[in-house]
Amino acid sequence: MKRNPVFLRLSAAGLAVFMLICAVSGCSGASAGQSGSASFFAMDTIMEMTAYGEGGQDALDQVEHLIFTLEDLFSATDQNSEVYAANQGLKVALSDYTADILDQSLALCALTNGALDITVRPIMDAWGFTTSDYRVPDSTEIDALLPFVDYSLVTPSPDGTLTLPAGVQIDMGAVAKGYASDLAAQLLAENGINSAILSLGGNVMAVGAKPDGSNWRVGIKDPSGNTDYIGVVEVNNKAVVTSGGYERYFTGDDGQVYWHIIDPSTGYPAKTGLSSVTIIGDSGILCDALSTALFVMGADDALDFWRDNGGFEAIFIAEDGEIIITSGLKDVFTPSDTSATVTVASYDR
Ligand code: AMP
Ligand code: MG
Repeated sequence: MKRNPVFLRLSAAGLAVFMLICAVSGCSGASAGQSGSASFFAMDTIMEMTAYGEGGQDALDQVEHLIFTLEDLFSATDQNSEVYAANQGLKVALSDYTADILDQSLALCALTNGALDITVRPIMDAWGFTTSDYRVPDSTEIDALLPFVDYSLVTPSPDGTLTLPAGVQIDMGAVAKGYASDLAAQLLAENGINSAILSLGGNVMAVGAKPDGSNWRVGIKDPSGNTDYIGVVEVNNKAVVTSGGYERYFTGDDGQVYWHIIDPSTGYPAKTGLSSVTIIGDSGILCDALSTALFVMGADDALDFWRDNGGFEAIFIAEDGEIIITSGLKDVFTPSDTSATVTVASYDR
């Protein structure tokens, strides 16, 4: 039986009001001393980056190259990728990058008790999310696939190879951008860049502070689409990653909306009353994994997960518009609608 979380109610009026709410690109473009920028399409999304200081452009060129390298390894659709070969049941000699992301992802699958499960791909296929040829599979079809959705069946061998059991397929979609953002931040640091803002689709990596020393302001998308941003969070040196049902979905003949975040225990889109989850923390892959996993858990279980594990902060936007933030964000999150009520979850249950 779950205990009710204790909430501290906080009126948005009590929070500082920003004069300027800006998207990541807007913030970065507004500052002087810009030394490098990149904008390209990779990992199925638009990536936009700005790096400040000497060598910024060169560093971002390296980042772009790195991201395409990672995409070539992790893509589930590119017939030359390691993930594609593994999904064909072939024995694959893993590159260091693929071995590393697999290692980290499997640990995160375990940490989230399978709410994140990188073997969800056969289910994604059944719903047509891998081809955009959307359909609603019947329960018999889903039930036949569920035995193959189990991350514990993915066991890279000590000799550095991976052979997946027949029927098991992996999909790094929930973690690849976060992983890429970690390596990108590391590469920028190696190039002496200590101020940069990277947006890899819904994955933002704020490197250091803005060139003037102030915090980056990252806009959190309004999942309803009624406004651009539901609020702004001020951060430095943090990953800010959002997962939302609105990012990819279709409406079935039955009039129901089906989205791309799947509950691995049922094989159906996760409907937990949430429309988006944003995670803020030091590690891009952790934030990416948790944005997906906590969406699957729903707000109550997600807050218990936060209390049990800590190490990150979160913003939950419910389908009814309620905004819940974890206590570490109470001075750094500002809703766009200053009359909105923001519920601040505390560590007390
Ligand atoms: P994200 O946008 O980071 O939330 O990742 C969503 C993508 O991850 C989907 O498009 C699928 O490819 C994959 N996915 C969906 N549900 C899950 C899940 N529960 N665990 C792992 N990957 C998932
Ligand atoms: Mg994710």
